[in-house]
Amino acid sequence: MKIGVLREQQPGEHRVAASPETVKKLTAAGVEMIVEHGAGAEAAISDDAFRKAGAVLEDTAATWAADLILKVQRPTEEEMARLKEGQMLVGALDPHTHHEQVKAYAEKGVITFAMELLPRTTRAQAMDILSSQANLAGYKLVIDSMAAYSRCMPMMMTAAGTVTPAKFFVLGAGVAGLQAIATAKRMGAVVTATDVRPAARQEVESLGAKFVGFVPEGGAGEGGYARALTPDEQKKQAEMVAEHLKTQDIVVTTAQIPGRKAPRIITTAMIQSMKPGSVVMDLAAESGGNVEGSVPGETTLSDNGVKIIGAKNLLSSLAPASSLLYAKNLMNFVMLLVDKEAKVFKVKEEDDLVKGTLVTRDGKIVHPSLQNS
Ligand code: NAD
Repeated sequence: MKIGVLREQQPGEHRVAASPETVKKLTAAGVEMIVEHGAGAEAAISDDAFRKAGAVLEDTAATWAADLILKVQRPTEEEMARLKEGQMLVGALDPHTHHEQVKAYAEKGVITFAMELLPRTTRAQAMDILSSQANLAGYKLVIDSMAAYSRCMPMMMTAAGTVTPAKFFVLGAGVAGLQAIATAKRMGAVVTATDVRPAARQEVESLGAKFVGFVPEGGAGEGGYARALTPDEQKKQAEMVAEHLKTQDIVVTTAQIPGRKAPRIITTAMIQSMKPGSVVMDLAAESGGNVEGSVPGETTLSDNGVKIIGAKNLLSSLAPASSLLYAKNLMNFVMLLVDKEAKVFKVKEEDDLVKGTLVTRDGKIVHPSLQNS
């Protein structure tokens, strides 16, 4: 059983799919860990640290020769050429957006597992990359938006006068949004939040923030996730958001609908009504954008002096932390594939977590959500 851990090739990706801790544990389970030279360099993990944990450091070609490849991002075109029949690939493969690539995995006879598709059951929590990464993204969203804000987050009472606390609005209270609420509260801001899932109200309030806005009837979609709003519901939400934004200093948006483009919620007209010096940061900038005009990786200034920041590679800017959690998620998942007695990796389709993430096998696309697209 050989696992290969590559140096990521997608531009701007600094994370790595293994850590010394996961190397150690997988080695103890009988796996031979092969790590490409420099794979952890941008995540503050040295070759030496991997070696001490039990890994063999190799060049690119030797690492790709492993039975199972661990990746953060889906393979680049050049990397696709290195995949071979019967090889296993585990990572954040984004299969709904890159269907041509999914077809190519099948044609090559690669066995692929897309970690985003993991069923979100209690047993899956330790393998849930969406949660572990969204949690950190929510934290960084606050740090970055706060840094762009030219006033203060907490209230400060001084002999020279009182500095009022920032009014911080979180749009979308899923995993990232809830962490943003908690972080902004710790910084002393006055925090409000909204979401379309009925359960979100209690989650927001339990963090000491105020829930604003409306929740559409039967707000949650399948499996407790959000569904797309009807035009009438969108109008009602827009009215609420437009009114609330007028008083806010920092707004962060995290709204997503599984398998679809992120909903557009904040319009240019709404931004026009905000105070000069306010900040709007869009975590969904790379997946469609919650904010009109947000550009991933760029900060733009509106006519009325509002900074609009499109988030990009937020998790890479926290690579040492995000890699540790991501690596642990993957290790916990890979353990499901280890057959200790036969000393081989085995696709145990009777396991709902294995079956739920399995995208291609035996030359076919096998995941139900991808078969007809
Ligand atoms: P997500 O990234 O898919 O979406 C982020 C948030 O945006 C969600 O809360 C969603 O309701 C909200 N949203 C969508 N459209 C919106 C709109 N028009 N206006 C305002 N908000 C909008 O969500 P997520 O962070 O992955 O979490 C989704 C749900 O899954 C949550 O209930 C979360 O608690 C749950 N969850 C469960 C587990 C588990 O049981 N293992 C793990 C993680 C998350």
